[in-house]
Amino acid sequence: MHDWLAHRVRSTPDREALVNASSGNAWTYATLDETVAEMAGRLSALGVSDGDHVAGVLETGVEAVCLIHATMRLGAVLVPLAPEFTPPELADRIDHADVDTVVCDEATESQVRSAAEQVPRSPPTLSIHESGRDDVTPLSTVEREEITPRAWDRADTQLLLFTSGTTGDPKAVRLTMGNLLASATASAFRLGVDPEDRWLVPLSLHHMGGIAPVLRSALYGTTVIVRETFDPGGTVDDIREYDAICVSLVPTMLRRMLSARGTLPGCLRFALVGGAPTPAELVERCRDYSVPICPTYGMTETASQIATARHGEAFDHPETVGNSLLWTDVTVVDEHGAPVEAGESGELVVRGPTVTPGYYDDPVATGEAFGEHGLHTGDVGYRDEDGRFYVLNRLDDRILTGGENVDPGEVVDAIRAHPSVDEAAVVGLADEEWGEQVAALLVPDGETVDVADLEAHLRERLAGFKLPRTIGTVEELPRTVSGTVERDAVRDRLREGETMSIERSH
Ligand code: ATP
Ligand code: MG
Repeated sequence: MHDWLAHRVRSTPDREALVNASSGNAWTYATLDETVAEMAGRLSALGVSDGDHVAGVLETGVEAVCLIHATMRLGAVLVPLAPEFTPPELADRIDHADVDTVVCDEATESQVRSAAEQVPRSPPTLSIHESGRDDVTPLSTVEREEITPRAWDRADTQLLLFTSGTTGDPKAVRLTMGNLLASATASAFRLGVDPEDRWLVPLSLHHMGGIAPVLRSALYGTTVIVRETFDPGGTVDDIREYDAICVSLVPTMLRRMLSARGTLPGCLRFALVGGAPTPAELVERCRDYSVPICPTYGMTETASQIATARHGEAFDHPETVGNSLLWTDVTVVDEHGAPVEAGESGELVVRGPTVTPGYYDDPVATGEAFGEHGLHTGDVGYRDEDGRFYVLNRLDDRILTGGENVDPGEVVDAIRAHPSVDEAAVVGLADEEWGEQVAALLVPDGETVDVADLEAHLRERLAGFKLPRTIGTVEELPRTVSGTVERDAVRDRLREGETMSIERSH
C-alpha cells in the first residue's frame, strides 16, 4: 500500500480535496498531490528518508495537512508536536521519540531551535517558510527530487503520537499503517461515507482527533476544510459557508459554538463529539436545537474511536458513547481483571486492529498496559444490555472511602437526575476517618438545591457510602480546554468555599 493520497489521486483527480477556510483557497486531489509531491521531494533532497522520524511543529493549516501526506509518501514516521509546547516540553518529546529531523514554520522556529539545542543528538531543523536564522534550512533552498511513493506494510509504524499526559507523563504511542486503516474503515461503517462529504476540522492537527479526518478523507475521496484558529462563531459560519457535512469537535467547542450562534447549520449530517464526556445537558440542548451529534469515545492508543453513537442514539440514551466499532472488542473487567456482567462497572479493556502494538521505546509502560483481554484504557465504564457503552470516569479518579470503591461518574449521574441540578462534579477529599470522602460540586438549575431533598433522592439510587458528604455550589464547573472537569480546581473550591453536608453513619 502506498500513501492514501497517491491511491486517491488516480481515481478522482478533479474532486475537491482541501479547503482553507481562513483564506478561501481550495485544492483538488491533483493539485494537493502536486503540492505534497513538492514538499516530499524537497524533504528528500534535504536528507529525509524511509524510516526517519520527522517531527512536525506547525501551526494548524494547509502545511500541516501536507506534512501528514508527505511523510506517508516518503515512508517516514511522523511525530506531530503541538506548536504551543515550550522548548523543554518539545525537547523531551524530540529526545524520547528519537527525532531525526524537525519541520517548523515561521511561528515555531525559535522555540524549535532552543528545544533542539537541549537534545543531545540535536536534530536538523527545516522550515516550510523562509528563515533569517542560519541554523534553520528553508525547504525552498533545494531543488525537489522526484519521489516514488514508498510501499507500506500494515505492521509498519506510521505515526508516533504523544498522549495528552492527563494521568502522568505523556507516552509516545506507535500507530501502524494497519491501525490507521482499520480505524478509517471501521469509522466509515459506523458513520457512513458519501463521496460528497465535506469534513470541517477545527481540531489541532497534532492529535488523533484532527489527524484522523485528514487521513481518512484521502482514503474516502472526500473534502477536508481546515481553519487556522478556532473561533466559535466563525466555525459555525464556516459550516454554512463551506457546506460542511461533518465536523469533529470536543464538547467545549460545541458548547461555545452553540452559545455563539444558538444552533448549527442544517447542512450537517453529524457532529462527532469526543475526547471528553459530552454532558447530558449539552446533549439535551442539541436535541432541542436539532443538532445531529454522535458522541464518541476514543484514545490515542486506538487511533481514535473505540465506540461511537449512531445518529439520534444519544437523544434516547443521553450518556452513551454507543456500541464499539466494527472489529473492536471492549471487555469490562473488575479489579482482578475478570470480566463483569452488563450493567456492572469496571475498567474498559480494548482489543482489535486499531489498538497500538505498544509505546515507543518503553517496554515497561507497554507491559503494564496490556493484559489478558487487551489494552487497559484506565477508564471506568459499563455496557448496557444492548451493548451500548457508558464512560464514567478514569480509574485514577476512583474514590476509596472506608475500604469501598466509588466511581464518581455514577454519583454524578444520580445527582444530575435530581430536577434542581444542572451539572455536577464528584471528587474525593482527604478525610481522617475514612481515608477519602465523597464530595460534590453542583451547578443548580435554579436558585438553590435543597440538601435534605437531594439526600432523599440519592438514598433511593445509591448505597449509603457513595453519598457525597460535602456539597458546594457554583455557577459553572471549572473545565480544561478539552472540556474535562478540572478535578483539582473542584477540590480547591470544595475545601475553600462555602459547603453543605450530609452526615455519614458508621
Ligand atoms: P494520558 O494517557 O497521557 O494520561 P489522555 O488519556 O488524556 O492522556 P488521550 O489519548 O488524548 O490522552 O485521551 C484519551 C482519553 O480521553 C480516554 O482514555 C478517556 O479518558 C478520555 N475520553 C475520550 N473520549 C471520551 C468520552 N466520550 N467520554 C469520556 N472520556 C473520554
Ligand atoms: Mg490515556
